[in-house]
Amino acid sequence: MLKIAKLGNPILRKIAAPIDPREIKSLEMQGLIDEMFEVMYDEPGIGLAAPQVFRSIQLAVMGCRDEGGFPETVLINPSIVYYGPEQAENWEGCLSVDGLRGKVTRPSVVRVKALDRKGKPLDIEATGLYAVCIQHELDHLIGKVFLDRMTDLSTLTQLHEFQQYWQKEPTSVI
Ligand code: ZN
Repeated sequence: MLKIAKLGNPILRKIAAPIDPREIKSLEMQGLIDEMFEVMYDEPGIGLAAPQVFRSIQLAVMGCRDEGGFPETVLINPSIVYYGPEQAENWEGCLSVDGLRGKVTRPSVVRVKALDRKGKPLDIEATGLYAVCIQHELDHLIGKVFLDRMTDLSTLTQLHEFQQYWQKEPTSVI
Protein backbone atom coordinates (compact mmCIF):
# COMPACT_ATOMS: atom_id res chain seq x y z
CA MET A 1 0.00 0.00 0.00
CA LEU A 2 1.25 3.52 -0.78
CA LYS A 3 2.41 5.61 2.19
CA ILE A 4 1.02 9.10 2.78
CA ALA A 5 3.35 12.08 3.10
CA LYS A 6 2.58 14.06 6.25
CA LEU A 7 2.76 17.80 6.90
CA GLY A 8 6.38 18.88 7.15
CA ASN A 9 7.55 16.52 4.42
CA PRO A 10 9.18 18.79 1.81
CA ILE A 11 7.46 16.95 -1.07
CA LEU A 12 4.15 18.54 -0.01
CA ARG A 13 5.67 21.97 -0.68
CA LYS A 14 7.02 21.30 -4.17
CA ILE A 15 5.41 22.35 -7.45
CA ALA A 16 4.39 19.10 -9.17
CA ALA A 17 5.67 18.38 -12.68
CA PRO A 18 3.25 18.00 -15.61
CA ILE A 19 2.74 14.47 -16.93
CA ASP A 20 3.69 13.62 -20.50
CA PRO A 21 0.31 12.65 -22.05
CA ARG A 22 2.02 9.71 -23.79
CA GLU A 23 2.72 8.19 -20.36
CA ILE A 24 -0.89 8.25 -19.16
CA LYS A 25 -1.78 4.85 -20.59
CA SER A 26 1.37 3.16 -19.27
CA LEU A 27 0.91 0.30 -16.83
CA GLU A 28 2.88 2.23 -14.24
CA MET A 29 0.57 5.28 -14.39
CA GLN A 30 -2.62 3.18 -14.50
CA GLY A 31 -1.36 1.15 -11.54
CA LEU A 32 -0.54 4.32 -9.59
CA ILE A 33 -4.05 5.70 -10.22
CA ASP A 34 -5.64 2.43 -9.01
CA GLU A 35 -3.45 2.38 -5.91
CA MET A 36 -4.26 6.01 -5.13
CA PHE A 37 -7.99 5.24 -5.22
CA GLU A 38 -7.39 2.24 -2.98
CA VAL A 39 -5.50 4.31 -0.37
CA MET A 40 -8.06 7.13 -0.57
CA TYR A 41 -11.05 4.84 0.09
CA ASP A 42 -9.10 2.90 2.72
CA GLU A 43 -8.24 5.97 4.85
CA PRO A 44 -11.07 7.03 4.18
CA GLY A 45 -10.84 10.27 2.25
CA ILE A 46 -12.55 11.85 -0.74
CA GLY A 47 -9.48 13.02 -2.64
CA LEU A 48 -5.76 12.34 -2.95
CA ALA A 49 -3.06 14.13 -4.92
CA ALA A 50 0.09 12.39 -6.18
CA PRO A 51 2.49 14.49 -4.06
CA GLN A 52 0.68 13.05 -1.00
CA VAL A 53 2.00 9.62 -2.03
CA PHE A 54 5.51 10.90 -2.74
CA ARG A 55 5.05 11.43 -6.48
CA SER A 56 5.57 15.06 -7.45
CA ILE A 57 3.45 14.91 -10.61
CA GLN A 58 0.22 16.65 -11.66
CA LEU A 59 -2.25 13.90 -10.85
CA ALA A 60 -5.16 13.80 -8.41
CA VAL A 61 -7.95 11.31 -7.79
CA MET A 62 -11.23 11.97 -6.00
CA GLY A 63 -14.66 10.53 -5.42
CA CYS A 64 -17.40 10.52 -2.82
CA ARG A 65 -20.17 7.93 -2.79
CA ASP A 66 -22.09 9.53 0.08
CA GLU A 67 -25.19 11.62 -0.32
CA GLY A 68 -24.22 15.01 -1.75
CA GLY A 69 -21.10 13.32 -3.15
CA PHE A 70 -19.61 13.36 -6.62
CA PRO A 71 -18.35 10.90 -9.24
CA GLU A 72 -14.94 9.23 -9.26
CA THR A 73 -12.66 11.62 -11.08
CA VAL A 74 -9.03 11.48 -12.22
CA LEU A 75 -7.43 14.82 -13.04
CA ILE A 76 -4.12 14.91 -14.93
CA ASN A 77 -2.38 18.24 -15.66
CA PRO A 78 -5.45 20.12 -14.39
CA SER A 79 -6.04 23.85 -14.46
CA ILE A 80 -8.93 25.89 -13.14
CA VAL A 81 -10.19 28.08 -15.97
CA TYR A 82 -13.05 29.77 -14.12
CA TYR A 83 -13.84 30.72 -10.53
CA GLY A 84 -17.45 31.64 -9.66
CA PRO A 85 -18.06 35.02 -8.00
CA GLU A 86 -19.54 33.56 -4.79
CA GLN A 87 -17.48 32.28 -1.88
CA ALA A 88 -18.44 29.38 0.41
CA GLU A 89 -17.02 28.38 3.77
CA ASN A 90 -16.47 24.67 4.49
CA TRP A 91 -14.68 22.55 7.04
CA GLU A 92 -11.68 20.83 5.50
CA GLY A 93 -9.28 18.17 6.65
CA CYS A 94 -6.42 16.45 4.86
CA LEU A 95 -4.92 12.97 4.83
CA SER A 96 -1.51 14.65 5.15
CA VAL A 97 -2.58 16.66 8.22
CA ASP A 98 -3.55 14.20 10.95
CA GLY A 99 -6.36 14.98 13.33
CA LEU A 100 -7.11 18.59 12.39
CA ARG A 101 -10.07 20.33 10.80
CA GLY A 102 -10.35 23.98 9.83
CA LYS A 103 -12.71 26.31 8.02
CA VAL A 104 -11.65 27.42 4.55
CA THR A 105 -13.39 29.94 2.31
CA ARG A 106 -13.16 29.24 -1.42
CA PRO A 107 -15.10 30.08 -4.60
CA SER A 108 -18.26 27.94 -4.61
CA VAL A 109 -18.10 27.14 -8.33
CA VAL A 110 -15.06 26.22 -10.44
CA ARG A 111 -14.52 25.03 -13.96
CA VAL A 112 -11.52 22.76 -14.41
CA LYS A 113 -9.86 21.44 -17.54
CA ALA A 114 -7.65 18.36 -17.36
CA LEU A 115 -6.94 15.01 -18.97
CA ASP A 116 -8.67 11.88 -17.66
CA ARG A 117 -7.05 8.49 -17.03
CA LYS A 118 -7.42 7.61 -20.71
CA GLY A 119 -5.72 10.85 -21.75
CA LYS A 120 -8.99 12.36 -23.00
CA PRO A 121 -9.74 16.05 -22.34
CA LEU A 122 -12.07 16.75 -19.42
CA ASP A 123 -14.00 19.95 -18.84
CA ILE A 124 -15.92 19.95 -15.54
CA GLU A 125 -17.97 22.62 -13.86
CA ALA A 126 -18.20 21.72 -10.19
CA THR A 127 -20.17 23.08 -7.23
CA GLY A 128 -20.50 22.14 -3.56
CA LEU A 129 -18.20 19.49 -2.14
CA TYR A 130 -16.89 18.62 -5.61
CA ALA A 131 -15.67 22.21 -6.08
CA VAL A 132 -14.05 22.20 -2.62
CA CYS A 133 -12.29 18.91 -3.33
CA ILE A 134 -10.98 20.01 -6.74
CA GLN A 135 -9.51 23.21 -5.28
CA HIS A 136 -8.01 21.37 -2.30
CA GLU A 137 -6.37 18.74 -4.52
CA LEU A 138 -5.09 21.24 -7.07
CA ASP A 139 -3.52 23.16 -4.20
CA HIS A 140 -1.46 20.04 -3.42
CA LEU A 141 -0.04 20.23 -6.96
CA ILE A 142 1.34 23.71 -6.24
CA GLY A 143 2.73 22.92 -2.80
CA LYS A 144 -0.19 24.30 -0.77
CA VAL A 145 -2.25 22.71 2.01
CA PHE A 146 -5.62 23.85 3.38
CA LEU A 147 -3.94 25.47 6.40
CA ASP A 148 -2.38 28.03 4.00
CA ARG A 149 -5.89 28.92 2.78
CA MET A 150 -7.40 29.49 6.23
CA THR A 151 -8.15 33.14 6.89
CA ASP A 152 -9.21 32.53 10.49
CA LEU A 153 -6.90 30.13 12.33
CA SER A 154 -9.16 30.30 15.39
CA THR A 155 -11.39 27.69 13.70
CA LEU A 156 -8.54 25.14 13.70
CA THR A 157 -9.91 22.18 15.64
CA GLN A 158 -8.65 18.80 16.80
CA LEU A 159 -10.67 15.82 15.63
CA HIS A 160 -12.16 14.89 19.01
CA GLU A 161 -13.29 18.47 19.63
CA PHE A 162 -14.51 18.70 16.04
CA GLN A 163 -16.76 15.70 16.60
CA GLN A 164 -17.90 17.08 19.95
CA TYR A 165 -18.72 20.64 18.88
CA TRP A 166 -18.80 21.03 15.10
CA GLN A 167 -19.54 17.71 13.39
CA LYS A 168 -23.06 18.73 12.35
CA GLU A 169 -21.56 21.05 9.75
CA PRO A 170 -20.38 19.47 6.50
CA THR A 171 -16.71 18.40 6.38
CA SER A 172 -14.36 17.33 3.66
CA VAL A 173 -11.36 15.14 4.32
CA ILE A 174 -9.21 15.52 1.27
ZN1 ZN B 1 -5.16 17.29 1.31
